[in-house]
Amino acid sequence: MAYQTINPYTNETVKEYPEATDQQLEEALQNGHELYHTFKTQDIKERAEQLRQIAANIRERSTELARTCTIEMGKLLAEAEGEVELCAVIADWYADNAEELLKPEEIETGANGKAEVHYQSTGVIMMVEPWNFPYYQIMRVFAPNFMVGNPMILKHASNTPSTAQLMADVISEAGAPKGSLTNLFLNYDQVSKAIADPRVQGVALTGSERSGSTVAKTAGEHLKKSTLELGGMDPFIVLDGANMDEVADIAWRSRLYNCGQECTSSKRFIVMENMYDEFVERLKDNFSKVKPGDPLDEATTLAPMNTKKAKEKLQEQVDEAIKAGAHVVYGNEPIDLPGQFFMPTILTDVDRDNPAHTTELFGPVAVVYKVSTEEEAIKLANDSSYGLGGTVFAGDSEHGAEVAEKIETGMVFVNNIRYSLPELPFGGVKRSGYGRELSKLGQMAFVNEKLIMKADKPDMDNLAGGLVSPVDLG
Ligand code: NAP
Repeated sequence: MAYQTINPYTNETVKEYPEATDQQLEEALQNGHELYHTFKTQDIKERAEQLRQIAANIRERSTELARTCTIEMGKLLAEAEGEVELCAVIADWYADNAEELLKPEEIETGANGKAEVHYQSTGVIMMVEPWNFPYYQIMRVFAPNFMVGNPMILKHASNTPSTAQLMADVISEAGAPKGSLTNLFLNYDQVSKAIADPRVQGVALTGSERSGSTVAKTAGEHLKKSTLELGGMDPFIVLDGANMDEVADIAWRSRLYNCGQECTSSKRFIVMENMYDEFVERLKDNFSKVKPGDPLDEATTLAPMNTKKAKEKLQEQVDEAIKAGAHVVYGNEPIDLPGQFFMPTILTDVDRDNPAHTTELFGPVAVVYKVSTEEEAIKLANDSSYGLGGTVFAGDSEHGAEVAEKIETGMVFVNNIRYSLPELPFGGVKRSGYGRELSKLGQMAFVNEKLIMKADKPDMDNLAGGLVSPVDLG
């Protein structure tokens, strides 16, 4: 497997990295395992200090981090800067809150004595991450697991090795002990081997259904816990009462942010028929204003896609959609630049049997549907094997929230832009995966929720409900 940095704007191969050896994997597992035991006896406050220092170093090196990301996977520099800052915010949040989140909790019980759940580390965690938010994906798993005391091994995407190594270096240079996060250029067999290893206690994967299913199968085979953050076909529903100026201003950004290569990107726009024409017109207008170019240049507003392969796959999907009856309202024309550019495209008339109705288009392509009732909008939104996120514009936010209740996804934003912040849980249902990252839920993903019951002495006069024999043997 080739780990390479290829600039998708210039198509130049910037750097190549050799694959990890089995010996390096073994060392990482052993370092991680030893650190797990060291962390157990360490005050969590020490790790909080280290995590704060990591946040500070991320901010100090933000220009280098952002530029490396833009050169490696093509995102606009301003977006890369935003991603870097978000990593620092996540690190600070867990440094500030993890101790409280992990405090033992008392449970009211009818049993004799006091019952508490203690939250403890479990061991080394394997992390498999994608290229689209190459730093943020690492930090979502790193910060909470570092705080609880789970060391990590990272296998990043083969097209983002430089960002992976840079973040691992920043973390290590900020003072995190060796083994806290070891980045390795692993092949798939080595990932399986790591998951099978008894020193590893869980695996967190963000990526496609294909890799999610493979990695979860290996985890299941070895009885390891897993969390999966997979794809999405998030609906963006526009109902009566929606403010069309706000809708128009957010819709295009929702689709073109990160060049449309985002799991929670709004991929299906579901619009009431009386607003449909205006919606399409304004989406088209906004799509037509973006300026392709060098993503390092501040004037550029349309980035290249991350690889030639990704662009070719998207083109094939759009061609298939058109063959199956989709109408191109805008776009789908070549952009005369050497980078991996894909013109923002709007498709309508996508029927249920069109592949674009059921498969994720991971790039700047919007599918717009017309509906005549709210029930139809909800039914269409739920007519997907995915269940990650979604947006509802409804004017009245209470009514919007009632609609949100009926959407089968893990996150819904009403009359709002999408957020990802450390205090908000992130994740989906159906084929978008399971488990949550960020927030308290992300903190608890790989902890041992250990029950400790203490009493001064057993209550032998009241055995009801106890798992000891009530029969008197005397
Ligand atoms: P991908 O091919 O599944 O790659 C993701 C990661 O999994 C990469 O590190 C990849 O390594 C690795 N991988 C793939 N097959 C593997 C295997 N058999 N064993 C071990 N590792 C394996 O995903 P992608 O297509 O690049 O990423 C885009 C997908 O991720 C989209 O579907 C998107 O919606 C989803 N995504 C979800 C979220 C979320 O939070 N829900 C966030 C971002 C992206 P290689 O690069 O070496 O193949």
